[in-house]
Amino acid sequence: MGMKNKVTNVLVLSLSLLIVGCRADSSQQLKQQSVKPHITVNQMGKKPVIVILIDSLMGQPLQDAIREGRAPAMEYLLHKGQYFPQVVSSFPTMSVTIDSTLLTGTYAGQHHVPGLVWYSDQKKRMILYGNGAKEALKIDQLQVFNDAIYQLNQVQLNKKTKTIHEELADKGKESASINAIVFRGKTKHALKVPDFIANSNRVPEKMIVTGPKWLSYAALAQLNPKNNWNTPLWKKFGMNDEFSAKDAAFLISQKKLPDVTITYFPENDNLAHRKGPTQLKGIEKADQALQTVLNAYGSWEQAVNNAIWIVMGDSGQSAVYDDRQAATVDIRPLLSHYCIAKLNQPVRSDDQIVIAVNERMAYIYAINDNVELSNVVKLLQNEDKLDIIAMKDGKSNIHVTKGKKGKLFSYHPGGKFIDEYGQSWTLSGEEDLVDITVNNNRIKYGKYPDVLARLHGAMNSHEGRYVVVTVQPGYELVGESSPTHIGGGAHGSLHEKDSLVPLIISGTNTRPKTLRIVDLKDWILQLVNE
Ligand SMILES: [Zn+2]
Repeated sequence: MGMKNKVTNVLVLSLSLLIVGCRADSSQQLKQQSVKPHITVNQMGKKPVIVILIDSLMGQPLQDAIREGRAPAMEYLLHKGQYFPQVVSSFPTMSVTIDSTLLTGTYAGQHHVPGLVWYSDQKKRMILYGNGAKEALKIDQLQVFNDAIYQLNQVQLNKKTKTIHEELADKGKESASINAIVFRGKTKHALKVPDFIANSNRVPEKMIVTGPKWLSYAALAQLNPKNNWNTPLWKKFGMNDEFSAKDAAFLISQKKLPDVTITYFPENDNLAHRKGPTQLKGIEKADQALQTVLNAYGSWEQAVNNAIWIVMGDSGQSAVYDDRQAATVDIRPLLSHYCIAKLNQPVRSDDQIVIAVNERMAYIYAINDNVELSNVVKLLQNEDKLDIIAMKDGKSNIHVTKGKKGKLFSYHPGGKFIDEYGQSWTLSGEEDLVDITVNNNRIKYGKYPDVLARLHGAMNSHEGRYVVVTVQPGYELVGESSPTHIGGGAHGSLHEKDSLVPLIISGTNTRPKTLRIVDLKDWILQLVNE
């Protein structure tokens, strides 16, 4: 492969949030001395909302970082506001799916973004929004680039589920998206496609997307012209915390802050993947970036008085055992008597199974009519490290099982059982498979928060006949050349370790209807519209 391709690989991987390590740049000082005050309250007297989404921020390490004095900005906001350590994420617990849930207020069954990696029955190929060097190297690079930006936002994300940006635009309000992977809005933007990709003649020089009025996306779109030096290759072309912070701070200092700004800090995720979920360095870096944003107000007090701050994680991570043999669960040997499609070539007519691994979760597709999904499930039950194994039948019932004993739990929406979030269900079989307890028709969740709705979302997220599997904490799934995080951390599953994130709210005494990311959209719109 030529040099051009290599460079392209690096760019695509970087933009796809595969973070290859980044030098610390912690020169920011807390500036508390008075600068001229910035009053950015909008025309209606409403405070603007600033969402800071920190990838893989978790409650316990956040508290540890605060105790060690390594997260002063988050500590400040937390003490000035409200703190919820256990907010329920989406499923699969992968950033693209979670961000889509945050922006649309729906689970994957409605927003249609199934995960980082999935198989399109319509296109007869895998869709990858970027998942690691080895996998991407085997797949067409420009395809990944297009999928990760255009296909995700303009095609796959269901147009019937409006994003926060679209809802605000409908009401004549403005919003901003800074380095968020999901950003669809109503304003057309021409992304700057770097020369060495554009020159390949396969991507237009400018990629037209729709976003909020203010769109910032690494080297492809930036707000602060001085942020250029934050977009070189070794800083992941701008997909870094500092770039995000500088562009958010730019909107504040230019008095251009819109009603809602969604700012994504990517770096903590990579550090947690490599060092494990207890690492604090990524939180420290994210906090330094948050300080840059707060400082744009002149003082932190001004920041809290003049804006509503929502600082949160997107998913948790589970520690992965540090022995490769013990830590990884390879799905292929379990299904070895089927013909499993190879990643590096188009699906062939005799292929029967496609495996799309999302770290601690996988979609396993039966792409040939001669494969019974229930037989695939039976074979998967032979692996004790698998946690939840689920399939949908022709009548839209979801069946859950695990292990060799063949226990079964089945459910579908609607019915006499009501859960903690007011959702109703019909249930049958062994409830311990999803760790719920039922008393007087009330459902209480255990170690799989909001499991019924979240799993139902994934089971209905896209076309095709497929099984959803997750793996128990400590383990990670592997398919053909999927990335692993031995001795580090991984996410993707329904388990609470992957599924609970902290939420800091400052500048308002209100809170979302329930402590789930799926309910943040309505609340954010209320904060702006009331
Ligand atoms: Zn991650």
